[in-house]
Amino acid sequence: MFTRHYNVWPKELPKTMTLPETSVYTNLEISARRYPDHTAIIFYDAPMSYRRLNEEVEAMAGYLQAQGVKKGDRVLLYMQNSPQYVIGYYAILRADAVVIPVNPMNRHAELEHYIADTSATLCLAGQELASFIVPLIGETNLEQVVVASYNTYINLETDLNLPAEVAAPAWSKEIPGVVSWDTAMASGHKPSEHTAQPDDLAVIPYSSGTTGAPKGCMHTHRSVMATALHRAFWNLSTPDTVQLSTLPFFHVTGMTGSMNSPIYSGSTSVIMTRWDRTTAAKLIERYRVTGWTNIVTMAVDFLSNPDIGQYDLTSLNTIGGGGAAMPEAVAEKLKRMTGLDYIEGYGLSETMAATHINPPDHPKAQCLGIPVFDVDCRIIDVDTLEEKGPGETGEIVSCGPQVTLGYWNRPAETEKAFVEIDGKRFFRTGDLGYYDEDGYFFMVDRVKRMINASGFKVWPSEVEGLMYRHPAIHEVCIISAPDPKRGETVKACIVLTPEADTNTTEEDITSWCKEQMAAYKVPTIIEFVDELPKSPTGKLMWRALQEEEWKKQA
Ligand code: AMP
Repeated sequence: MFTRHYNVWPKELPKTMTLPETSVYTNLEISARRYPDHTAIIFYDAPMSYRRLNEEVEAMAGYLQAQGVKKGDRVLLYMQNSPQYVIGYYAILRADAVVIPVNPMNRHAELEHYIADTSATLCLAGQELASFIVPLIGETNLEQVVVASYNTYINLETDLNLPAEVAAPAWSKEIPGVVSWDTAMASGHKPSEHTAQPDDLAVIPYSSGTTGAPKGCMHTHRSVMATALHRAFWNLSTPDTVQLSTLPFFHVTGMTGSMNSPIYSGSTSVIMTRWDRTTAAKLIERYRVTGWTNIVTMAVDFLSNPDIGQYDLTSLNTIGGGGAAMPEAVAEKLKRMTGLDYIEGYGLSETMAATHINPPDHPKAQCLGIPVFDVDCRIIDVDTLEEKGPGETGEIVSCGPQVTLGYWNRPAETEKAFVEIDGKRFFRTGDLGYYDEDGYFFMVDRVKRMINASGFKVWPSEVEGLMYRHPAIHEVCIISAPDPKRGETVKACIVLTPEADTNTTEEDITSWCKEQMAAYKVPTIIEFVDELPKSPTGKLMWRALQEEEWKKQA
């Protein structure tokens, strides 16, 4: 399969990989047996060994089962990066249930959607997020929220800057349906035998795909296992590898690179709840961090720290990331400072992170990389579906063990998302690109309607759907506008209702949006217009509006 498209492959790596026929939880169980006293995670200067991590997972899995969580049940995980995130994630898997990772920036309307769509009745939440999810108990099918206080597992003597949510005193409120993490852990229930098989569902991250409202991407233990192993082998990870975990675990890149892959390799993950460039530099120096997966905005912020020269960054041997293109100038600055090439990768929620990565010894600039183990990637014509050759632009389609089974409860959307080539099922990414003579892939544009705001993906139709709930909004069209910091930002073109208060301001709309949706989706530019362009059938012509915006900016 690999002879097709590329000539470069790291010498020490095989091209295909036999995946273990076990569940993702088994990786933790094995690491806990092999390296019981080795540090699995470090959270604000508090280490936790693999033995302890596995014990905590057992305790939480026992509690979940005692609450009635059964094989295949969906459980929401709504927290920031923390030991509890790792424990909660592996406990859900240990209980044979399915993890629904929820972006901690999500608010009321988004949470309602996840609860209804997955029929989840239980949520593990961070305490700073409890006020958003707890009111949904009873109002939706949600019955119980287990609230975690992040300071349970920190070193209180630390000299690191503690984010407010980490320093906050532990949760002590008594609310029906709400249980504190510590109470749940102390319940003393033991989980029953672990029975999950490779083809059982493991994780359902949400994405809008190429259109519409967020849909759950069904990933089995096999697909999660594939990316965990690929990443570990690609980075040549060992128990001596130390990862700095700054990308959020709810998103497939952080979930794979900073949690599942290190646990598979028995290596150490140094976790931060939120990005802070000084803490990141201190942690790299203090724990001799070897690998750091990030997004462009983090790298830019890290490099612009005037004190960066004070820190010893020589332990780093891999820096990379994906989710958005890395500008060449930033990669060059990073190389001058660390001597390392930025290893860019490419993938989607539907592919459980990377399908492509640059070979560490032969990276190309502004490039998605080459397909990883067992991935067959082609370029096709968007309309005719005909396959294209080197240098010809078309839609990127991927087939491999990490590709989603399809969208949760949405057979019609699943059908549209795949195309058959040579008897195999390829996922249509909605991204436009090409490959060169060496088989490296490059992205040039998107077919899908998505805004990439510094790696955070915003789907205009979802934001529009939420904004239509505002009483003063008659019509709204969300488009992308260029932004010097975020690359792209969210712009709303709004037609107000005739009854709307003529004093309705941009601020009124913005502050309402902030309560309804994650901050990165809130439009930063609002334009009130008299009408929106429509096709003869009355369809909103968003592309015309988008092109007008690009012309204006050019
Ligand atoms: P998500 O589902 O949030 O992981 O978003 C996936 C989308 O991120 C892809 O379809 C691309 O549009 C974009 N993306 C991922 N990696 C890259 C990259 N290296 N360069 C540019 N865009 C990327």
